[in-house]
Amino acid sequence: MCAQRFTSGSETTGTTSAIHLGHGVASLVAARKLRFLHITDVHLDMDYAQGEESNCVAPPCCRKGSIHQQGVNPTGGSWRPARSYGENQCDTPAALLQSALDAAQQLHPDFIVWGGDTAPHATASEQVAVTQGDSLEMLVNRQRQSVLDSLGNATAIFTAAFPHIPVLPSLGDMDHVPTSTDPGPPRNAWLLDAATRWWAQWLPEQSLDSLKWGGYYEVKLPGSELHVVVLNTEVCHVQNFHSFVDGGHAAREQLAWLEGVLLRARLARESCLITGHIPPGVWGGCWGNYSSAYQELVSRYTDVVAGQLYGHQHSGSFRMLRHPPDPTNPAFGVAYVTPSLTPYKDQHPSFRLYELAGKPYVRLSAAHCPWPDTLIGPILCPVHRVAEP
Ligand SMILES: [Zn+2]
Repeated sequence: MCAQRFTSGSETTGTTSAIHLGHGVASLVAARKLRFLHITDVHLDMDYAQGEESNCVAPPCCRKGSIHQQGVNPTGGSWRPARSYGENQCDTPAALLQSALDAAQQLHPDFIVWGGDTAPHATASEQVAVTQGDSLEMLVNRQRQSVLDSLGNATAIFTAAFPHIPVLPSLGDMDHVPTSTDPGPPRNAWLLDAATRWWAQWLPEQSLDSLKWGGYYEVKLPGSELHVVVLNTEVCHVQNFHSFVDGGHAAREQLAWLEGVLLRARLARESCLITGHIPPGVWGGCWGNYSSAYQELVSRYTDVVAGQLYGHQHSGSFRMLRHPPDPTNPAFGVAYVTPSLTPYKDQHPSFRLYELAGKPYVRLSAAHCPWPDTLIGPILCPVHRVAEP
């Protein structure tokens, strides 16, 4: 099934119906075991073009104008024409995302965590491209349009694939313009206003204010005792110039908000699943003082935190959390890092199925849903189980 492309920046949202939390999740009361998917680092490239050069001189490839190292093929066409489901030097075509969600439907998840970095890497490439005659304003507008094009179309594809369950999205560093640069409100309104408008279909009214203000929010899944807490990790990103300039103010504000959420959940004897884009830890990309503060906070709420999910790295891994963050201290928790959907830079397009069992949802196990080696057909499931605590 092909997703209909729409023009972002207009009032056409690309979403076809208003779906609110509560639809299709009534069974969660009795389910006790919650199954959900984590699909992250989608990097949807709406300018992916089948037949264009997939082994180009300046990746990401598979776009109009992609040229092979040997130049233009004298016989016409590309040296290695891009296939329909993606290539290893290219970002995600709509057909790959659609195929992943088709496979995901067969897993019958209760809800979906859609991780950040939906924009294509080509948006960042334009940052260093010298385009003759273009003003800085024209470049910024073109980059913003590219981000909104991917976010809006991905929203439409998720909506069509999962019309009856909650989808809980977040933003990543690549979703900002310039890339990895979040100046905070009101200068990021071009992004947060659109995201809030498109994602309001999945979120209750009370979640929208913080999403629109800071890119973070919390929802309680109706019929369950589980809160999903979505962070905006750009506030701690070492590559975000503004997180340096503001002295950590936005990060402290968000952590204070997170503590309020965790405390209320504890008082109600409920659980929280925390998710964001950039994982905590030394090899993560967040400032060390933020990572320390985050781990200190979570270490005080291990009775509440049911799981922690991140992305950004594109490869699958995990973070052992300690407080103080000294390797000689015993770990109090683990944060899972789910691999990317994009095949860019020789990744194996993947998403994961996670399960939370029992009350208060303290056991989390994961299964891995990889793409076949050949990249020639739709994504395949059943999944391979990779962790069972
Ligand atoms: Zn990222």
